[in-house]
Amino acid sequence: MGNPKAFLTIPRQEAEYRPVHDRITDFGEVEQTLNTSERKLQASRCMDCGVPFCHWACPLGNRPPEFQDALYKGKWREAYDILTQTNDFPEFTGRICPALCEKSCVLQLSIDAPVTIREDEAAIIEAAFREGYVQPRSYRRNGKRVAVIGSGPAGLAAANQLNRRGYEVTVFERLEYIGGLLRFGIPNFKLNKPIIDRRIRVMEAEGIRFEVNADIDLTHLPEGFDAYCVCTGTPQARDLNIPGRELKGIHFALEMLAQQNRVLAGQTFSDKERVTAKGKDVLVIGGGDTGSDCIGTSNRQGAKSVTQIEIMPQPPVGKNPATPWPQWPVILKTSSSHEEGCVRRWSLSSVRFLGEKGHVTGVEVEAVDWLPNPDGGRPLMKHTGKKEVLKADLVLLAMGFLKPELPAFAPQVFVAGDAATGASLVVRCIASGRRAAADIDRFLTSAPAE
Ligand code: FAD
Repeated sequence: MGNPKAFLTIPRQEAEYRPVHDRITDFGEVEQTLNTSERKLQASRCMDCGVPFCHWACPLGNRPPEFQDALYKGKWREAYDILTQTNDFPEFTGRICPALCEKSCVLQLSIDAPVTIREDEAAIIEAAFREGYVQPRSYRRNGKRVAVIGSGPAGLAAANQLNRRGYEVTVFERLEYIGGLLRFGIPNFKLNKPIIDRRIRVMEAEGIRFEVNADIDLTHLPEGFDAYCVCTGTPQARDLNIPGRELKGIHFALEMLAQQNRVLAGQTFSDKERVTAKGKDVLVIGGGDTGSDCIGTSNRQGAKSVTQIEIMPQPPVGKNPATPWPQWPVILKTSSSHEEGCVRRWSLSSVRFLGEKGHVTGVEVEAVDWLPNPDGGRPLMKHTGKKEVLKADLVLLAMGFLKPELPAFAPQVFVAGDAATGASLVVRCIASGRRAAADIDRFLTSAPAE
């Protein structure tokens, strides 16, 4: 710990987003960076707590106090080495992790100004790529082969860890690009896709094989492998089966988000295929992160208006006594996309879609109240009868994803990421992929030789 009093004198400084008027005109990343000396000052705020809650809160078990200290002292290589002991892909989490570590930082719990752990992480890995610390390495082969099905963060982490342990790894991906939701869910303005390509190039150079356009039948896994890691995510979005659902102009969020990322990658779509918000009144149903990504995308596409509705009540701003630490704080989250312009409403249940000539024109919604549950569970919803129509000619359904039902697998088949847990976070999926790789290694090294 280089500067024991820095947390008393140096305020938290975020790199902040590009100004709205500038970022709204393109799909480039919205987050900016601090310069090196500002970044080191931020790292110096880490108090190196005796029991670091940040480390405990991170699903990867990242060790922020150690890498903050190295960063503060300008030892970027050492910071990179510490960070990558626990995290395969800091360039992803450093950009898009909701930073569970920061919610548990003692400076959050005491003065609401945690160390900028996520941004510091991004700075370390970007410096590592810039300075050439990230170089492909070669690993001694152990003669065994593992297939990874699905190339999202869980599959990539499993493949990376297995490759390092000497397995010959092939990643099979159904789609035309590697990356899962990193590629086709998360918008470029949060995670620019060359960041994924850069990592894939390193993994390929280290010997991992990637096969795209390879849709694997999970009941007949490809032959010739000693073990399998199924990381197929949660492909099915939650639907809203209310009257009028068949109308044109109602889409799952990912239909729009994935297509927009494909357009940015140079693919073209006919007017009929294109899901675009240009000139439209957009209604996003679902108040979470996917909904927020729809808002950012709609505004960039030139929407006339964007409204987001949520069935649950508006969470409190700042602090929520109902979810004290160490619980995840259920508080109002205002993303960069929200700042760019939208109307947000809560406690609204969707009753039916309205349309004309087969196309959606609006959604009838009803205000609901949420009453405390005497059994202590999820609050009870009460209809109020207060109905209104929200105008919309594009409706995006962003209400989460269903946990997949997977076939019963043989013992050499392991499951990781969202496929195992239901929809989650990138950081949890990387952790899950790492765990699965360790389990596969244990399984294959303890299996009796034939
Ligand atoms: P996925 O990323 O879903 O990847 C699964 C892959 O498996 C896909 O590429 C799929 O094509 C492939 N596949 C499926 N079936 C087969 C098959 N039979 N054969 C071959 N391949 C197959 N998390 C965050 O932490 N921060 C965020 O900001 C964030 N934003 C998000 C925004 C959106 C719009 C969405 C939808 C999610 C977001 N998430 C975010 C969640 C995060 O993206 C997921 O939790 C994570 O990507 C799941 O990783 P995964 O590897 O389990 O699966």
